[in-house]
Amino acid sequence: MSKKYLIVGGVAGGASAAARLRRLGEEDQIIMFEKGPNVSFSNCCLPYHLSGQIKNAEDLVLMEPATFKGQYNIDARVNSEVISIDRENKEVEVKNFESGETYKESYDKLILSPGARALMPPIMGIEKANIFIVKNVVDIDKLNKFIHNTNPSRITVVGGGFIGIEVMENLVEAGHEVSLVQALPQVLDQFDYEMVQILHKEIMDNGVELIVNDKVTAFDTNKVILESGKEIVSEVVVMSIGIAPETALAEQAGLTLGKTGAIKVDPNFLTNDPDIYAVGDAIEVYNVLTQDNFKLSLAGPALKQARSVADHIHGKPIQNTGYIGSSVVKVFDYNAASTGLNEKALVNLNIDYDWVEIIPKDKVGIMPDAEMLGFKVIFEKPTGRVLGAQAIGRGNVDKRVDVIATAIKFGATVDHLRDLELCYAPPFGTGKDAVNFAGYVASNLLHGAFKQVSMREVRDLVEKDVYILDVREMAEYEVAHIKNAKIIPLSQLRDRYEEIPKDVPVYVHCRSGQRSYNAVLTLQSKGYTQVFNISGGFLGVCCYEYFNDKTTGREPIVTEYDFD
Ligand code: FAD
Repeated sequence: MSKKYLIVGGVAGGASAAARLRRLGEEDQIIMFEKGPNVSFSNCCLPYHLSGQIKNAEDLVLMEPATFKGQYNIDARVNSEVISIDRENKEVEVKNFESGETYKESYDKLILSPGARALMPPIMGIEKANIFIVKNVVDIDKLNKFIHNTNPSRITVVGGGFIGIEVMENLVEAGHEVSLVQALPQVLDQFDYEMVQILHKEIMDNGVELIVNDKVTAFDTNKVILESGKEIVSEVVVMSIGIAPETALAEQAGLTLGKTGAIKVDPNFLTNDPDIYAVGDAIEVYNVLTQDNFKLSLAGPALKQARSVADHIHGKPIQNTGYIGSSVVKVFDYNAASTGLNEKALVNLNIDYDWVEIIPKDKVGIMPDAEMLGFKVIFEKPTGRVLGAQAIGRGNVDKRVDVIATAIKFGATVDHLRDLELCYAPPFGTGKDAVNFAGYVASNLLHGAFKQVSMREVRDLVEKDVYILDVREMAEYEVAHIKNAKIIPLSQLRDRYEEIPKDVPVYVHCRSGQRSYNAVLTLQSKGYTQVFNISGGFLGVCCYEYFNDKTTGREPIVTEYDFD
């Protein structure tokens, strides 16, 4: 017997559920309600309309209701908001914004995919500013047209998450002056602080006024006022400070919310009502690493959850393996990907961990387009289980992080990373890929072959005037070096090591950490016991120090920066 399925929300999760339901049941009735004027648009591509990479706003819409009807016999009703759910009678009440009428529709199964709403705090003077959000096609079209019609002297983006970053980038690409205000000390909180400094530099180098550690406290006409007292003259403001799950309908229907405030679902994405499922940004999901629920507002999970729901409705077995959170973002010429847990999360969770930070080339070094790749892998102690990774570079960072994301899902340890067989030819990577290389370093660290300190600690070491040993070649040292560092090139170390004191800690670095690792092993073999490799080397230190040096005016700890 045919069934009747209703879906609330017609974009990522909603449209995906509808299409899969149709594939599994030709005779069923499927109605998808969308309160906005468009179904099935690409949220993720919205910012790219601002730069003109996606020329027409209409191109953001992937499928019209007529196509849903014609190709899939799915009744996609736009401008139709589901305003309440009557669980007892298994029907919803719908408001049609075009006709103004309200009507009821019954269901056998109901799927909620209402997404999330943009946070909009009640900031003083907000009515005086030209405030925009970027959530759907209507929003981006409005913002783009306003900018074109008014030609603002400056646009302020509030919030340094991935939407804020993408909006900022596309506005710059379109030739606008942009300020980015971020309340936290860094943008893109999924990355650890030292990693993100590469991006802070990139943002600054592209002419954006990047303001961190400060927040908007008031707006005035064409003016954004920050907590620090700084005022930004700006005729347009894009708010992207975060989102909250859209739970009003679920709450009205008495569905259970989880402790994160999102809709609680079981492993089959069923709510506490056996006939109502929920997916996407509105729900909380199980994090396999923290063994706790969290909110994961990403398109991939929403699409796959929706498919699973359709399968479950049709009695097909689904496997919910839990989530770890993997994402990637482009920041001008850099790409930045992350998966799993970062150090901040691990500190909060009180999990014993260690990490490696390496800066290899992403392709064979002599290839013309080989680029530096900042790569961090975090693992549990003492098991070596991989917990997270972050990669930032101009090349394909997503490949490395995708490999680690897969490894995490299969419970890999750092020892497993060493021997993973990954594709290689010079235009693509290196024979020992960055992933293998991170596995070697992490495995050595885990098994006690050497000790390290982070680039984060170098300023403190310089200020304490400890023994820092630079093992690069003299020509490199002469271009730029850490103040106070002694130089003994690795090529001379075996002849000159006795110049190095044995009774104090020795902190060794080269350009990126590889030669210094060899130097550490040599010194250890000569009886030195307090030798530490400075992870990331001189390059890491330059990247880490640059943004704060430039924005705070503090004394640099390097004679010059060298990013080559
Ligand atoms: P949505 O796709 O947001 O769909 C929910 C829909 O439900 C909305 O259209 C809403 O109008 C409708 N709705 C809500 N309540 C009702 C109601 N009561 N009745 C009828 N309709 C209702 N994720 C990535 O993984 N990678 C990216 O690069 C990426 N970039 C993004 C860029 C931007 C600018 C934005 C806004 C999001 C981006 N995302 C990205 C996030 C991704 O789009 C979301 O995680 C995903 O769309 C969530 O799917 P969903 O179905 O839960 O919600």
